[in-house]
Amino acid sequence: MKRFIFILFLLFPIICFGKDNYKNIERLINNYDVLKYVKDIKDRDPSSFWFAASYGDVQYNKMKRALSKKSGSIFTAKNNIDEAMFSMLMMRSRLTHDSSLEGEFRNSIYEIMGVNKAFSNLSLNFIVNDEQNASASPDGYIMIYTGLLKLPNFDIYDLVGILAHEIAHYMFQHTLSIEWKAVKRHNKNVTIASILSGIEVGAAAYAAANGVNNQDTWNNIARNAALYNDYIYMDDHGNYRYRYTRELEMQADFVAYRFMEFIGIGGERYIQTLMKLDPENRDSITIDSDDHFSISDRINILLYLTAKSKLENIESPGQ
Ligand SMILES: [Zn+2]
Repeated sequence: MKRFIFILFLLFPIICFGKDNYKNIERLINNYDVLKYVKDIKDRDPSSFWFAASYGDVQYNKMKRALSKKSGSIFTAKNNIDEAMFSMLMMRSRLTHDSSLEGEFRNSIYEIMGVNKAFSNLSLNFIVNDEQNASASPDGYIMIYTGLLKLPNFDIYDLVGILAHEIAHYMFQHTLSIEWKAVKRHNKNVTIASILSGIEVGAAAYAAANGVNNQDTWNNIARNAALYNDYIYMDDHGNYRYRYTRELEMQADFVAYRFMEFIGIGGERYIQTLMKLDPENRDSITIDSDDHFSISDRINILLYLTAKSKLENIESPGQ
């Protein structure tokens, strides 16, 4: 009976998403779920999770190799990001921090997440703002808007899940990764695209530093940077940009899900946080075709992942 329910669970997204989308979800899980890298960790030290997850990502490691070789395109991309960071640093001084959260409370989160051991540059900042928003900059500056602490029945594990998602964006240098792709496409074609992209990154950094509300500020910067290029190269590349952004977003979600699992809270706890962030759209089951996934889409994909993991455990009880 239990098994029957799980199979129903497993079929649910297929019914909801349709067969093609189901294939896409399977592909996302295959390519971006970090389970295969973290499942053999022997100790329970949370920093071990970050080390294992970061060493396991193919795209990220390709980027690191290109950086060490100082290849032209990655260098240009890095310069674009550094320029954006320069504007960002100047704007940051205007943000209002909630210093009551940046003492003992922050230390206990660092402790739970193994942040100090795993990252040398990461800093967690609580910014006074009613929006339910968080972002991670390429230099490890993570912003949590205090509005997030007003989620229904908020507890520290809501924050841990959201942070794990943002840490993934930082750890895998998603902004650089998208900018690199954009630069490589620039190089193939007109130079003007590169200039446009640079301007957009700078403008988005300014907006982010001024608390302009976007779902995921740095992710949007990255998306906007790529947007001009995709617009320009639409004939050759179709919707490539959107697909890529979705993959990064899901990779960050898979990381958060697996991190919660790793520290013994369970991946479903992260799904609950996403549900709190999206209370009104829970019934939406269509995948938004012209932009990145909605929170509902992300929830459904993670529910599918949960059902799949449970089913696999039943089928191979020895493992
Ligand atoms: Zn994100």
